[in-house]
Amino acid sequence: MTNISNSPNNEGYFGEYGGQQLPPELKAVMDDICQSYLEIRDSTSFIDELHDLQRHYVGRPSPVYYCRRLSEQLGGAKIYVKREDLNHTGAHKINHCLGEALLAKKMGKTKILAETGAGQHGVALSAACALVGIECEIHMGEIDVAKQAPNVVRMKLMGAKVIPVDRGTKSLKDAVDSAFEEYLRDPQNFFYAIGSVVGPHPFPMMVRDFQKIVGIEAREQFQEMTGALPDKLVACVGGGSNAMGLFTAFLDDDVEMIGIEPSGLGLDTPYHAATATLGSPGILHGMRCYVLQDEAGEPLPVYSIASGLDYPGVGPQHSYLKDIGRVNYQTASDQECLDAFMTLSRTEGIIPALESAHALAYAMRVAPELKGKRILVNLSGRGDKDIDFVADKLKL
Ligand SMILES: *Cc1c(COP(=O)(O)O)cnc(C)c1O
Repeated sequence: MTNISNSPNNEGYFGEYGGQQLPPELKAVMDDICQSYLEIRDSTSFIDELHDLQRHYVGRPSPVYYCRRLSEQLGGAKIYVKREDLNHTGAHKINHCLGEALLAKKMGKTKILAETGAGQHGVALSAACALVGIECEIHMGEIDVAKQAPNVVRMKLMGAKVIPVDRGTKSLKDAVDSAFEEYLRDPQNFFYAIGSVVGPHPFPMMVRDFQKIVGIEAREQFQEMTGALPDKLVACVGGGSNAMGLFTAFLDDDVEMIGIEPSGLGLDTPYHAATATLGSPGILHGMRCYVLQDEAGEPLPVYSIASGLDYPGVGPQHSYLKDIGRVNYQTASDQECLDAFMTLSRTEGIIPALESAHALAYAMRVAPELKGKRILVNLSGRGDKDIDFVADKLKL
């Protein structure tokens, strides 16, 4: 495999994707964040502090686990999972939330802002802000506030201010608008914590850097366990942070990588969020990337059974990796996701997040044909948040 550039250029482009598609005053604020990030990224005190928190607070390294019963049942490839579900707060998101909170604190920012849909980003960020000691304000659509009551309580318990948004459709898109408006009141002193490898430069690079610990650990753990590298890596893709976290350490290796998007109720219906699969290059949230868009360039409504995956864009590095063919993007449906969710619960006693179950569903689909191969799936989060929904859906 030839050397694939792992960094954006100075303007934040991965090939033709990324950049800062912003008005000049915000560009200046992003440049300031980038400058501060590049300074602390290489400072030993920051590296030591982050490393210490990863170990003693998050609980890293997370294990790689061989799913023996699942693999035997499928009768083909051996399936392994990287257990990001065991992290404090239950998913990979804490990896970048900690990094962002530490950076905001070091920059002297007074408040961290974010939107949240299902509440996973909000909970991880609330924890990171409590730990670092910085004010946290989470905007959330009123419908989501009602649907995700336990996560709202968690955020409040950890000291975050939760702002219910009652405009428009009262869901994620309106929460983004509301949080962004508040941010624009004082971008010098506020920090908008983006929840994936998306948005303007430096966020796709920075969030990727905070997540790449996942692949660095997994590469070493896998070789120790098996004496070799995996044949395939599989990760679900919403904005793409857990996938970039796993993939980055393997980009120069001869290892196949597959990103799994939700085909929801079907790619021939409007009810999916298969951005890399069916989208086209466009502009969204300050970046150039693949977007599911209408003819006017407006993002289309998207859907997935896993609310962490229903984003109409995908990170610029994924967009680039798709174009050069280094990562292959495939889909899994709601039904396959539910099947994988139940199968992993019953064969291994591990309840995966519905997001992660998409990646697992793909691995389960291809494993029977791949005897002798090893597949490593990123189990990006745990399914505790999804149990009531699944029990209701499957009438358990
Ligand atoms: C948010 C979330 C995702 C999707 O986000 P990415 O940035 O694509 O990783 C995936 N899995 C879990 C468990 C999540 O909470």
